[in-house]
Amino acid sequence: MSGPTTVTRDTVFLDRQCHLVTGVWSYTAADPLAVALVLHPFGGSARRCWSWARGLLAEAFLAPCGEADVHLYRSALGRLVVQLSAPDGDCQLSCLADPVWEFLVSTFVMCSPCRGGRCSSCPECVLVRRALDAELATILRRVV
Ligand SMILES: [Zn+2]
Repeated sequence: MSGPTTVTRDTVFLDRQCHLVTGVWSYTAADPLAVALVLHPFGGSARRCWSWARGLLAEAFLAPCGEADVHLYRSALGRLVVQLSAPDGDCQLSCLADPVWEFLVSTFVMCSPCRGGRCSSCPECVLVRRALDAELATILRRVV
């Protein structure tokens, strides 16, 4: 094995009352189909850890999506909205979508989507293709 086996991305969220909530997106090759979000709701040492399918996070960049207690969508203002339901209450958080996108791409670099397979239908593959197209477009613009 070479290269990192975990990627993280510190993120500042806003809740519905516009309080700042710090969090960390985390991905590990040991659990390649999942992403984790660790939140520090009161700015202190208390933390809540959420984990869900990486494909779900990918899907959020294509269309609103959700499963059970996690719902995600990208707002028109370029923010990723995360709605979480827990027995002790619900919360809605939002953060800038672009850094989460970069985090997601870095997880694809570490562990390709579809366990290395190629398909045309799942959100992860669609996103990877889109990211590659965007990168290619940037390179072509530099050349022309
Ligand atoms: Zn796929």
